[in-house]
Amino acid sequence: MARLLAVDDPGVDWSGTRVLVRADLNVPLEDGRVADDARIRASLPTLRHLLRSGAGVAVCSHLGRPKGRPVPELSLRPCAERLAQLLVRRVDLLPDCVGTEVARRVGALRRGEIVMLENVRFHPEEEQNDPGFARRLAEGFTHYVNDAFGAAHRAHASTEAVAHLLPARAGLLLRREVEVLSGLLERPARPFVAVLGGAKVADKLPLIEQLLTRCDRILIGGAMCFTFIAALGDPVGASRCEGPEEQRLALGLLEAAGRLNCALELPLDILIADRFAEDADLEVVPSDAIPDGWIGVDIGPQTQASYREAISGAGTVFWNGPMGAFEIPPFAEGTRVVAEAMAASGAVTVAGGGDSAAALAAFGLEDRLTHVSTGGGAALELLEGRTLPGVAALPSA
Ligand code: ADP
Ligand code: MG
Repeated sequence: MARLLAVDDPGVDWSGTRVLVRADLNVPLEDGRVADDARIRASLPTLRHLLRSGAGVAVCSHLGRPKGRPVPELSLRPCAERLAQLLVRRVDLLPDCVGTEVARRVGALRRGEIVMLENVRFHPEEEQNDPGFARRLAEGFTHYVNDAFGAAHRAHASTEAVAHLLPARAGLLLRREVEVLSGLLERPARPFVAVLGGAKVADKLPLIEQLLTRCDRILIGGAMCFTFIAALGDPVGASRCEGPEEQRLALGLLEAAGRLNCALELPLDILIADRFAEDADLEVVPSDAIPDGWIGVDIGPQTQASYREAISGAGTVFWNGPMGAFEIPPFAEGTRVVAEAMAASGAVTVAGGGDSAAALAAFGLEDRLTHVSTGGGAALELLEGRTLPGVAALPSA
C-alpha cells in the first residue's frame, strides 16, 4: 500500500496555519473523570508536532453514543482538562464543534494555541457523513489532520467528508497503525503465528478467513474455541458456545485451513469451573472431555505451554482476543502466558482488540510489544483486508 502523507512529511509549512485535528478521544469515563487516558496520550505526538511547528490547533472527537443530540454527561470537558495537564498548557473547550462562535474562535487561533471542540456526535449529521455539516466543520481552518485511527473504519463527517474539503494529512498515530497492521498482511517475517480468542467466532469470521491465507499457524483460545469443539462433535458442558450455523462456519474454517496449509490449532486442555465466579471449583480436562454442567473458562496448562512455544519460535505474532474470561483473576492465566510470551519474544509482536489491549495494560506489558493497536474495530477491519474510509480519504505519496 502507498505511504500515507503525514504531518511530518515535507510539503506543508505549518507556521501560521489553523488546523482541524480529528483525534480519537473516546475514552472510558468514571464519575465524570477520564478513567483511562491512553487514547489521549496516543494523540500527543501529532498535537505536539503541529504546535511546535507554529500551527494553531482545534482538536475534535466523538465520545460515546449521544445519538445526535447534546448529552451533558458525554461532554469532552474531562478530555480537555486531561489534555491540558498532559500538554502543560491551556486547552479551552468550545461550546460546540460548529457555528458562529466556534468559527470566530477558530479564525482567531494563534500560533501554538490549542482548543478542543465539543463532541461531534452531538449532531446527527456527523454519523450521516453529511457534506453540509462537513463544510461547517471545516469553516475557518486552513488544514485537516486525521489521527483518529480508532474511528477510521467509519465514514463520518469528521473522518471522511471533511478530508475532501481541506488540504489533508495523516497524524503520526494513524500512519503508524496503518503501516504496522498492513505490514502484517504484506510482508510478515515467518513463521507468522496468529493467536485468536475472545467471545465469538461470528465476530471474527472475516478476520480468521483472511489470516488463514497469510499465517503459518493460528492458535485458538477464548470462548470461541467451544464453537470449534462442538462443531467437531465433542461435549462443551455449560461453556459459552455458538449455535449450529456458527459451528458449520467453524467446520468450514477447519477445512479451509487444511487446503491453505495453515495449521489451525485448538486447545489440548481446558480449565473448567463449576460456576462463573472467583471462588469457583476448578479442574483441568482434555478439551474433548468437558463434563456436563462445567464451564470452560481458560486454556489449560498444556495448551499454554504449547502456545508459548509457538510464540517464541515465531517471526511475527498477531494476537486478538483473550484466551479466557481474564476479568476474573483465576481465569486469566492463559491470557497472561500469551501476553508474557509476546513480550519476551524477539518477533514482530502486534496486538489488536479492545479487551486484548486492556489485558496487556492490566499485566503492565503494553510497552513490551512492537505495537498495540488503539483501534479495536478499525484494526480488525484493516486486517480483514477492508478499506477504511477515514484512511482512503487521506493523500498518500
Ligand atoms: P477483543 O476486544 O480483544 O477483540 P473480544 O471482545 O472478542 O476481544 O472478547 C473478549 C471477551 O471474551 C472478554 O470479555 C472475555 O471475558 C471473554 N471470554 C474469553 N474467554 C471466555 C470464556 N472461556 N468464557 C466466557 N467468556 C470468555
Ligand atoms: Mg471486545
